[in-house]
Amino acid sequence: MAEADGRTLGDEEVAALDRVIRSGMLSSVWGTETRALEREVAEMYGSRHAVACSSGTAALHLSVVAAAPDPGDEIITTPITDFGTVAPILAQNAVPVFADVDPETGNLDPSAVAKAIGPRTRAILVVHLFGAPAPVTELRALADAHGLALIEDCAQAWLAELPDGRYAGTAGHVATLSLQQWKHITCGDGGLTLTDDDGLARRMRLFADKGWDRSVGRYHESFGLNYRMTELQAAVARAQLVKLPGVLAARRRTAERLVAELADLEALVLPRTQGHAWWLFPIVLPGGGAAELAEGLRADGVPARAGYLSQPLNRAPALTAPVYGGSRYPLEGYVPAPCPEAERMVDDTLLILDWNENYTDEHVEVVAGAVRAAL
Ligand SMILES: *Cc1c(COP(=O)(O)O)cnc(C)c1O
Repeated sequence: MAEADGRTLGDEEVAALDRVIRSGMLSSVWGTETRALEREVAEMYGSRHAVACSSGTAALHLSVVAAAPDPGDEIITTPITDFGTVAPILAQNAVPVFADVDPETGNLDPSAVAKAIGPRTRAILVVHLFGAPAPVTELRALADAHGLALIEDCAQAWLAELPDGRYAGTAGHVATLSLQQWKHITCGDGGLTLTDDDGLARRMRLFADKGWDRSVGRYHESFGLNYRMTELQAAVARAQLVKLPGVLAARRRTAERLVAELADLEALVLPRTQGHAWWLFPIVLPGGGAAELAEGLRADGVPARAGYLSQPLNRAPALTAPVYGGSRYPLEGYVPAPCPEAERMVDDTLLILDWNENYTDEHVEVVAGAVRAAL
């Protein structure tokens, strides 16, 4: 199968870069593109604030800063995600506590999250995995009942929808987005946070600019780094944002077709289509054997992988290695909780098909045929 190229970069992005370079201003501190991108994304999501930054990982770092854990406090998160979800927890000297997942979706299981809440829990950091909406309404209720922050990592879930029709990213206190090369839309690298809270928006904006309140002077109000987006990134991202609804519609149309094509295969658990943003197309084999199926599909030229990760992140070597210098702080004596459902998914039951906006009905037919043949 000829792999469809999934990017939508073209003349619009070239024109955007031309505009910025000719303006002579590449920095968002004095330029207009980054602030415009923030307004446009905030408007798209109906959020009061969007804060642009240099990557999805930077956006997650800002979101953890907003949650303000004390050193050693705990943040509950999922073992099946990009490491960019977990690294910012460590960067703020907080401890990631992994809760287990729903074995059909890989998304956090609210009952497992509830069991993981303890006296030092400060926040829940949930991921809308592969573009499937996570149960954030339940998690928000849990967060509210315990006085915790809810952060939604929407890096894989641009415009995913919750069962009530709201966008994924509007149920938590802060949401994060990524513009990395392989996300729904891209400017190479880039990120955004969303929030309705003026105070949290200010805290994140300051952190992304060295704690610098430029309205006062050369004045550093709080600890921060430089996570600023450039005008070049923002201009490309704005051109991409215009294309986002089309990207979603195209991915949804073909993915829903594949779900229909495979619906009779009882060995497979297919994704629920409701609100899905189809960053990838995950298939679960409750009986195991994802590695063999992936191999069979690749032999037929279908881009398929088993497990998504080498190991679930509760077993990542980074969590048993030194964190700063030779020190293990804040992970001294840390033993990541076992997450049997996540471990079984990654080791045996989870199959990933690459998906993108340029797939055609023909691609769907080839994938469906290959899955049937390989089973
Ligand atoms: C891509 C991704 C990130 C990290 O984003 P970067 O822009 O690559 O830093 C974080 N979380 C999830 C779920 C992702 O898919």
